[in-house]
Amino acid sequence: MTAKFCPGCGSIQGPFFRGLCRNCFLKKNSLFGIPAAIKISRCKSCGKILFSGKWQKQENTLLEKIIEKNTKIPKLEKPKLEFLFSPEKDRKISAKVKLKGEIDSNEIAEEKETTIEFKTNLCDSCMKSVSNYYEAIIQLRFEKKGMEEKVLKEIENLLFGFSGEDVLAKIVSAKKQKSGVDLVLGSNKSASKIAKSIATKYAAKLVVSYKQAKGGTRDKVKKRFTYCIRI
Ligand SMILES: [Zn+2]
Ligand SMILES: [Zn+2]
Repeated sequence: MTAKFCPGCGSIQGPFFRGLCRNCFLKKNSLFGIPAAIKISRCKSCGKILFSGKWQKQENTLLEKIIEKNTKIPKLEKPKLEFLFSPEKDRKISAKVKLKGEIDSNEIAEEKETTIEFKTNLCDSCMKSVSNYYEAIIQLRFEKKGMEEKVLKEIENLLFGFSGEDVLAKIVSAKKQKSGVDLVLGSNKSASKIAKSIATKYAAKLVVSYKQAKGGTRDKVKKRFTYCIRI
């Protein structure tokens, strides 16, 4: 049964969806749900993205699959999604997503927007090949005895806290020294935070230095930082 006019706006222009014209129906009902943002891990070394537990090449067809998996289409006949991606900016791609389908065999469509946000990560194979990769060294030197264990524990706790956001926040190796220990760390970002936090807590002297390392891009020289903390 179709209504003769829309009770919402008085339009007599069909088709009608549950008694309402297309406009009024879409004002009151949403055809599908989509999150405002979808976060995806992307390898900072090879650029692959993680979907369904697999690291795969970033292509629009894959982004479409990811978005599709995140949409909820409650009830629609012949649902079909169309996508329009904007160029990436600040590790974000915004996408216009149009859902087309039918209700009681009448065509209807709705458009929504979502943003794909890339989280920097390291894929499994790159992680393996860079297991010796490091960006920083924290040199801990102790003037008082019995401090080392306590400070190391604190550093491990800090690293654990950073590891969710920073995959390289880990101790690659540790070398015993005469009056302390050298910790080789994967991430300079985390190393810098740790060095500042430990130095502040123990009112210790912190000396930061760096060396140029091999690699890096043309406009960005790779540096390896050393944080020497005397406690
Ligand atoms: Zn209407
Ligand atoms: Zn990778």
